[in-house]
Amino acid sequence: MKTIIEPFKIKSVEPIRFTTKEERVEILEQAGYNPFMIRAEDVIIDLLTDSGTSAMSAKQWAGIMDGDESYAGARSFFRFESAVRKITGMKYIIPTHQGRAAEKILFSITGGEGKFFPSNTHFDTTRANIEFSKAEAYDLLNEVGKHPEIRADFKGNMDTEALERFIIEKGRENIPLCMITVTNNSGGGQPVSMQNIRETKAVCKKYGIPLFLDACRFAENAYFIKKREKGYADKPVLEIAREMFSYADGCTMSAKKDALVNIGGFLAMNDDNLAMLCRNLLIVTEGFPTYGGLAGRDLEAIAQGLEEIMDENYLQYRIRSVEYLGEKLLAAGVPIIEPPGGHAIYLDAKRFLPNVPQEQFPGQSIVCELYVEGGIRTVEIGSLMFGKYDAQGKLIPPPMELVRLAIPRRVYTQSHIDYVSEIVIDVYKNRECLKGYRLTYEAPMLRHFTARFEKL
Ligand SMILES: *Cc1c(COP(=O)(O)O)cnc(C)c1O
Repeated sequence: MKTIIEPFKIKSVEPIRFTTKEERVEILEQAGYNPFMIRAEDVIIDLLTDSGTSAMSAKQWAGIMDGDESYAGARSFFRFESAVRKITGMKYIIPTHQGRAAEKILFSITGGEGKFFPSNTHFDTTRANIEFSKAEAYDLLNEVGKHPEIRADFKGNMDTEALERFIIEKGRENIPLCMITVTNNSGGGQPVSMQNIRETKAVCKKYGIPLFLDACRFAENAYFIKKREKGYADKPVLEIAREMFSYADGCTMSAKKDALVNIGGFLAMNDDNLAMLCRNLLIVTEGFPTYGGLAGRDLEAIAQGLEEIMDENYLQYRIRSVEYLGEKLLAAGVPIIEPPGGHAIYLDAKRFLPNVPQEQFPGQSIVCELYVEGGIRTVEIGSLMFGKYDAQGKLIPPPMELVRLAIPRRVYTQSHIDYVSEIVIDVYKNRECLKGYRLTYEAPMLRHFTARFEKL
């Protein structure tokens, strides 16, 4: 097989500013050992997130100029609405400025004390918005998804038996809706099968509970279904995506992922009454229903991005470029979540640094070292992001300690990725020298964004 090349030419470039290792040691210390606090210009390769970091196409930039900025009923809104409806088939489509704004509206209305929201795995902002409403969020990931070293096709699947037990235990009247995150971002970017979405829907339907998709990476998930699930090899990605959404009663979406834009999101649903309540809240917090928290030009760029994301040459390149990085790391013995997910490689920090206990944030230790060694910015997804405390103030660690290397869409070339693999492998070879960290500041919610550390 021939090399799968980037399916685009580069028309506009942004220079990278290089730093020395000595400078980076200083910068990281100033940032309290939290790369969220580092200036982007001090980063060489930024793998902090794939959110809002995509390179837009010439046609999207043309859409930015062409956007209709009318307050109400803008042409760009109707183009956006029809692009979203073509994929999701949803009756009501509500633009928001990000995915979390859609979550905030949805859970402000459906959440509250005594309510429970199950998911395969809630994303951090989703969990935070549920908990902020005083409701509780539960992850019911299937067993195989909890084992980083096991290779399986659909490690993002919901444990549907656990879901049914959960519904019986908590009471269906206390569960306003069930979510499935596609692909499962916090669980390794692993896809969810069509069969699992169908089975989850069947359980929800039995108890009269609506099913919502957290659809941020719906196109990557649809492509995995095409490649891995029986009966889908010859179907176009659009048709697969439509089938995924056909089992859902609504969805939340961050357009900063699979809509290839730098800002935007939406909330969509079929229920008339829920839509009315959401729109009323939208007007208070985001804006009029034909622009949400966005400019007309943003809606135009989202509409175009939603078409481009389903190009199968793009998706093949996208999934392959992540897998390529994964293969290089595995060949050098670096422990990662297998198989590689859709948008990121996740280092398994427990196996990478077995000598650093979970209370000392092994993931954060790797994050810091990748920055110092190569100017690469990554993020911890482990005890820092998801750790809780028990009544005695002792850390309750999450099941996995991960470091995510998220790959921005259409931004880096193969040589950038080769460089990343060289740095990760160097850090892995020197892993005996890595130390743990201690928190010196933490915010009450989403603490990973602003935490500060000291080195042990
Ligand atoms: C990014 C993301 C969100 C939140 O979207 P924002 O646009 O960052 O607010 C929600 N769920 C998942 C799975 C995500 O990846």
